[in-house]
Amino acid sequence: MDSHSIPHWYSPESPPISIVDAEDSTVYDEDGNGYLDFMAQLYCVNAGHSEQRIVDAMTAQASDIPYVSSALGNDSRDKLASLLAERAPDNLTDVFFSVTGSEANEAAMQIARAYQDAPKILTRWRSYHGSTYGASALTGDPQTRAEVERYSAVTGHTKFLPPLDFGGPFNADTPEELAEQAADHLEWVIKNEGPDSIAALITEPIAGTSGAYTAPPGYFERVREICDEYDILLVSDEVIAGFGRCGDWFGIQTENVQPDMITFAKGVTSAYVPLGGVITSSEIAEFLDTEGMPVGQTFAGHPVACAAGVAAVESYEDGLFENARDLAPVLEDALAGVEDEYDVVGDVHGRGLLWGVEFADPETGEHFFDPRVDEGDNPVGAVRTEAKKRGVIFGSARPDVQLVLSPPLCVTEEEIHEAV
Ligand code: PLP
Repeated sequence: MDSHSIPHWYSPESPPISIVDAEDSTVYDEDGNGYLDFMAQLYCVNAGHSEQRIVDAMTAQASDIPYVSSALGNDSRDKLASLLAERAPDNLTDVFFSVTGSEANEAAMQIARAYQDAPKILTRWRSYHGSTYGASALTGDPQTRAEVERYSAVTGHTKFLPPLDFGGPFNADTPEELAEQAADHLEWVIKNEGPDSIAALITEPIAGTSGAYTAPPGYFERVREICDEYDILLVSDEVIAGFGRCGDWFGIQTENVQPDMITFAKGVTSAYVPLGGVITSSEIAEFLDTEGMPVGQTFAGHPVACAAGVAAVESYEDGLFENARDLAPVLEDALAGVEDEYDVVGDVHGRGLLWGVEFADPETGEHFFDPRVDEGDNPVGAVRTEAKKRGVIFGSARPDVQLVLSPPLCVTEEEIHEAV
């Protein structure tokens, strides 16, 4: 492979495998070696690698009419927008397409600022929201922070602390206490920032690339109440958590909370082709109808991508979500066994088919946190490299203190046991 095409996160000692073929949860390299894809590539190939109906839908759309601009109508785009709005929480009614997850978050922030006429966005530490200037300014990821701040002059983002238990910043004895402390902290931040200056709060309902962190029970309900009290929009970044990854259409539905906007990408087409977007409440959509959408891209809502999205929704409803829900407890139990067996595992956490295995110092049992560690210099890198040699691809969270497991939703029970 040409060295210019090697992505930055691979070290020369661990060059990427060149993938030429795939079926269901397995990808194959040019020598025919198979790898169980427990990362669903970048947490996105939710329908598996060989869902022919998605490929057929893309082909059919491309041969009918490959591109129609967003100034005109298109059946696939209209159909996908309706399917998504029907499956989103009840208060969300309208879909605005983008191309990527980063651009979906950019759009949501621009919409929030215009709608609220307020400049600030609240976002949490240990989060990932994308790589464009605006989306990376939203991101609270210590490993990329320094790089982003070297170049980015995007301002108006205030970080708050996430409700983490293992290795987190709070000192709570129970999940309920943790939810309370973390929510009180958020309210304190809002009061100090000045509620009128805050347009929105964006959060992943279940973190993805910064570790498959779930919130303690009751936390999101309190966040919703606080947002209502201070007139702050709640935006759920579902780029990873959506499309069955956590057991429902959107991760926030597993928290019984209605956000004001959802941003999505990745799994909407099972990553067969790029597509992202924002689903908004009808009030926000009415505002945009009157004021105009602040942003837009040529390829937003590309008909071929929307046709893929329609077919992906059909696949998800044709047994894939059911399979994911049935196998989630199998993965959870298998990982609990790993936690019991190995001292270097400090914690396992997650939901549905998104789980993190968090490493700890085996001597002290303490959280292993060093944002500067590179792949290969820490237990997570070592495990990933060894796993790859044995034919399993795992993800990792940044900073690299966790393995992240996120298989395609078509994974089998045997594959789960093999990978774990
Ligand atoms: N939001 C979350 C939660 C993500 O995990 C990602 C990407 O991993 C993004 C946004 C950015 O999406 P994209 O890489 O499509 O721009």
